[in-house]
Amino acid sequence: MRICIALFALVLVAAQVEAVARSAELPGPAFPTFASPAALDAACQRNVATVGAAIKALERRRPGPDWLARYDDINALAEDLSGPIFLLSNVHPEKLMRDASEACELRWQDLLSSLAQNERLYQAARRVKPRDAIDREFLKLTLESFEDSGVSLAKDERARAKAIVDRVTELDQQFSKNIRDENVRVAFSEAELRGVPENVWKGARRDDQGRVLLGLDYPTSVPVLQDAQNPDTRERMWRAKNNEGGQANLALLAEIAQLRREYARLFGFASYADFTLRRRMAENTANAKRFLEDVRLAVTEREKRELEELREAKARELGRPLADVKLERWDTSYYSERVKRDRYSVDQNQFRPYFPPQESLALVMRMIEKVMGVRYTRVTGVTLWHPDAQAYVARDVKTGRPLATLYVDPYPREGKYNHAAVWPIRSGSTRLHRAPQAALVVNFDRQGLSLDEMETLLHEFGHAVHNNLSTTRHSSGSNVLRDFVEAPSQMLEEWVYDPRVLALMREVCAACKRVPDDLLAKAKVAERYGKGVQYARQHLLASFDLALYDADAPEPMALWQRMEGATVLGHVPGTMLPAGFSHVAGGYAAGYYGYLWSEVVAADLRTAFREDKLDARVGRRYRDTVLAQGGQRPPRALVRAFLGRDSNAKAFFEDLKR
Ligand SMILES: [Zn+2]
Repeated sequence: MRICIALFALVLVAAQVEAVARSAELPGPAFPTFASPAALDAACQRNVATVGAAIKALERRRPGPDWLARYDDINALAEDLSGPIFLLSNVHPEKLMRDASEACELRWQDLLSSLAQNERLYQAARRVKPRDAIDREFLKLTLESFEDSGVSLAKDERARAKAIVDRVTELDQQFSKNIRDENVRVAFSEAELRGVPENVWKGARRDDQGRVLLGLDYPTSVPVLQDAQNPDTRERMWRAKNNEGGQANLALLAEIAQLRREYARLFGFASYADFTLRRRMAENTANAKRFLEDVRLAVTEREKRELEELREAKARELGRPLADVKLERWDTSYYSERVKRDRYSVDQNQFRPYFPPQESLALVMRMIEKVMGVRYTRVTGVTLWHPDAQAYVARDVKTGRPLATLYVDPYPREGKYNHAAVWPIRSGSTRLHRAPQAALVVNFDRQGLSLDEMETLLHEFGHAVHNNLSTTRHSSGSNVLRDFVEAPSQMLEEWVYDPRVLALMREVCAACKRVPDDLLAKAKVAERYGKGVQYARQHLLASFDLALYDADAPEPMALWQRMEGATVLGHVPGTMLPAGFSHVAGGYAAGYYGYLWSEVVAADLRTAFREDKLDARVGRRYRDTVLAQGGQRPPRALVRAFLGRDSNAKAFFEDLKR
């Protein structure tokens, strides 16, 4: 173990020597550092006051041709001052600093919800005459956001709308905090961990009986569920994972759903889903539900067949007659892996030696460079929130011009956000010559990545380049509709199965061994296995989210029991998935279907790369017509510009059948 760490440190040093940029070369403002929670709080108050004063100044301005630009200036200023705070509450190693960041988030929320309800600015915006299509779309979105915040409501209702928004922010924050700060540890003896790769648990803390204490973060919980031979071990880990957030979060979620329904009703809508979806690509709740039903029809038989195969695998392993064997929820990952190993000889852990974390990051960056013409270079000597965090400058390959900053926070630690995500800290704007900045937060295994984790890295990089390569006129123009935002990320996931993409490792790491072609080919076939189960699960989660935000706003746990209870594997009493389902408490409310919806768009976008995933010409067109445009044109127009035709669901449903 120690030797591995030492070797790893050497690799890191090598990567640092390679980096030639200096911190001054990072475009955009430096990432702020705060000496203490009190210092963060003082800066926060000052910054909120600065933006407040800018809003007052704009109120006094007569609406003229430059009004939209001045309004966008305020959004840009607010984003610069608040963007890092929204990241810090999820990644700062000290709890008191995370708490101070959260308190600061509430100050921002209060200011921004007041801004969204500012009647003077709304009236001024209504008098603006847009110059061209880009300004027209920006103005339309601006007016909609004022209206959806309640600016046109009667005075009492407007106050209630603001109170609801602020309260939901607070409840959502508490919801995430309960999951993050819970620090649940499940105790296992070494014998109970038979089958789980040693690197997952060897270094973990122990209790006074010498049992290994494992957390619920992905690098830990996934291998336990996939590999622990002892069914009790899997069950305990699965139950812990499905109780994240606990009763407290169920109560929070119920309150959030009720408040959002009340909010929608202030605007005359029966449900929060109706209120929200009219602004989305799906256009309305009926379209989203119809789409989900199409997905269900396409995957139901496949799911049943796969679950039956898993049950057969279980019967074989236990040497018992099939009729006596029941497949449990904590069995599915484990037996999927067994079937994949038996049938396709693929084991996710086999890939780890080929994908050391730092080199894997470099590999993905090299792929982006080839396809999209942008080069990432590590910048050292930058003070960030944790010594593990890294800074990169993104430069246009042709012109050498610095375009954007990307921070990467690669490894798990206590109190850190435990999934994978990108925080867009700052949006670009050509009008303001503003360089975008984003932070990519993942939880890599320091020993190396599995192919699944490589896929996650590619997914997150899709979000990172969407921010980094945006060249919208207005900074607020880079916001993208929620049911489109996953498409560029999902599109890139499949790049991981292309041997030519993985062969780029040679260019970034001479010492790294190349993934054998036959192993990758087998993994590609194996990847299709289990799609029925996976899509059925996504369908269930998306349907639950839409039902929770339907007109009757049902009690979350009763709804979940009913919906999960109707599936093949049923509901497991004593578990409460909704308590840990932070998407539905937060910004994905009535929008979780967007993951599936975006996949339709992703599959369609991918058709342009069918011949060659490294095609720089197609990549450049993609960068210019889709990524660079952010949200300044509607998603359907972007897809049409890139593909030269209207988007359709053909590729997605064909993929489902494969
Ligand atoms: Zn994503």
